[in-house]
Amino acid sequence: MSEQRRPRVLVTEPLDEAGVTRLRQYVDVDERFGVSEEELEAIIPEYEGLIVRSRTKVTSRIIEAGKRLRVIGRAGVGLDNIDVSTARAMGIEVRNCPDTTSVAVAEHTFALLLALARRLPEADRTMKAGQWEKRRLKGVSLRGKTIGIIGFGRIGRQVARLAQGFGMRVLVNQPRLTPELALEAGVIPCDLPELLREADVVTLHVPLRPENVGLIGRDELALMKPSAFLINTARGGLVDEEALLEALETGALAGVGLDVFAEEPPGDHPLVRHPRVVATPHIGASTVEAQRDAALSIADQVIEVLRRPTQAASVLSLQIVPVDHVVPHEATDPKHVERLKEAIVEQGVLVNPPVVVAHQHDLYVVLDGATRTEAFRRLGIPHIVVQVVNPTDAGVTLHTWHHAISGPSWDELSTLLEEVPGLRLNEQPAGNVHVRLKEQANTLAYFLTTDGRAFLAVLDDGSLDPLDVLNDAVARYTAWGHVARTLITDVQRLRAAYPQVVALAVFPQFSIQDVLDIAARGKHLPQGITRFIVPGRVLRLNAPLDILWDDRPLSAKQNWLDEVVQEKLALRRVRYYQEPVVILEE
Ligand code: NAD
Repeated sequence: MSEQRRPRVLVTEPLDEAGVTRLRQYVDVDERFGVSEEELEAIIPEYEGLIVRSRTKVTSRIIEAGKRLRVIGRAGVGLDNIDVSTARAMGIEVRNCPDTTSVAVAEHTFALLLALARRLPEADRTMKAGQWEKRRLKGVSLRGKTIGIIGFGRIGRQVARLAQGFGMRVLVNQPRLTPELALEAGVIPCDLPELLREADVVTLHVPLRPENVGLIGRDELALMKPSAFLINTARGGLVDEEALLEALETGALAGVGLDVFAEEPPGDHPLVRHPRVVATPHIGASTVEAQRDAALSIADQVIEVLRRPTQAASVLSLQIVPVDHVVPHEATDPKHVERLKEAIVEQGVLVNPPVVVAHQHDLYVVLDGATRTEAFRRLGIPHIVVQVVNPTDAGVTLHTWHHAISGPSWDELSTLLEEVPGLRLNEQPAGNVHVRLKEQANTLAYFLTTDGRAFLAVLDDGSLDPLDVLNDAVARYTAWGHVARTLITDVQRLRAAYPQVVALAVFPQFSIQDVLDIAARGKHLPQGITRFIVPGRVLRLNAPLDILWDDRPLSAKQNWLDEVVQEKLALRRVRYYQEPVVILEE
């Protein structure tokens, strides 16, 4: 950017003064609290940074209007009010400060729990009315009781520590909680129904993702003890509020502590008014210490992003790398490679960069675009633009396709398969063939025939590499018949689409790690059995070949790429697609 203007940051919710002071040292800060979505959309084009807490809804409309926006800071944890995937796909960084508020939220969980267990609101109210209800206000003790923690992340773990201090037994429901971790933390892992049935206190500490909406509904509440308390300091949408009210009214639950609501503020909600509910206005993280730490942390992160020179290409994860460091994970069809070579030379551009994962010593494994990469290699172009994705990013997923094979008959196909060196077909009961595929290390795939039989393809020569044998088999039946890719495993349904189908080949479900390991050891899968879903893919980059072809150094080429992408971003020649995909238009 040529202008000498200090970056501007908009703060839309109260931020501790310490953070605002830190920000002002490096950027211009405007505080505008309570702006509507329309107002925000109108003013956001002026700002490089936006800092919010939980109330401001940073929708795709706002993000797309933020023409200069480079960073969105959330002074707190939950990112459910920010459209993170749109922001990331537009090259805008999203930062939060999860570690600063965990202790405060865990302490508030206990504030709510103790208020319920010792009936504090009622005790206080009757005292203020001049009463002395010493006899009536009998509470329950926490010592020796069981607490069930749903979600064992930063806050869940703090809650476990506090609960142990109170002498409680701690049950935890959390996906992939390893026995070692549970042992170290002194907690008992269990599934959700068991936790709900056993706990005297159930407390929620999971994020509000689409799959967690209504996590605690009518069926879950019905499993809880009538003497149990439920505490929610995570997010309102996790609990079905109507079912919760019903459970309180029918005596299926003893009490509820709520810091969060589906609609905030909840207004005159019957839950808030209910005598056995202790409610607070989303103040879990509102301690002096937590707010100061969160404000300082987010200020530092926003400053760090805004002081960094913009590298447009790297925000979209685009890199130029030597072609010979890029390896495919699947076979390529030489005919397709030849055709693509011609098309690339004719167009003079690389339209869509291959999607790769960086893996071991400068190796880039292609998830999508093996044919393009091979065409580049054959053309002798030394460098290629790739989009480097992180396989652990949310949304990066891998499906394995199956092959619907059409041809004259299964007998002919099975004879052909039996001729593959190292491969044997074993007939199995159709019901458990998928289990065998998973359990037996030497199985390559299985075949389902249209007359209901199932055959495992097993490796019967230990000196051969199973992938070589699998590739050989796929190559032979591809040359023999017609192969269509499908995700359907019901052969009868397939017949409607492919009347000549004689068998369905089902492959093991490969993980992304499997694919990387296969490529790193110089092997590959048969072509077209893997399908990667990569959110935020960059399409239509149209990188001119002459630059990739010439002999200037890689760093100079990378700078050139940054400029190209920067210009496209600056001109907003970017469209965001829900899948999500980024298209850089010519
Ligand atoms: P975290 O990401 O560290 O931990 C969440 C854990 O929940 C993860 O380990 C995840 O694997 C697990 N999880 C996800 N879905 C699950 C499910 N269905 N069942 C069981 N476990 C599941 O998050 P955190 O920092 O501990 O925050 C937890 C929640 O607290 C968030 O929803 C956040 O928005 C909320 N929060 C509330 C306040 C407040 O003011 N009340 C403040 C901060 C955070």
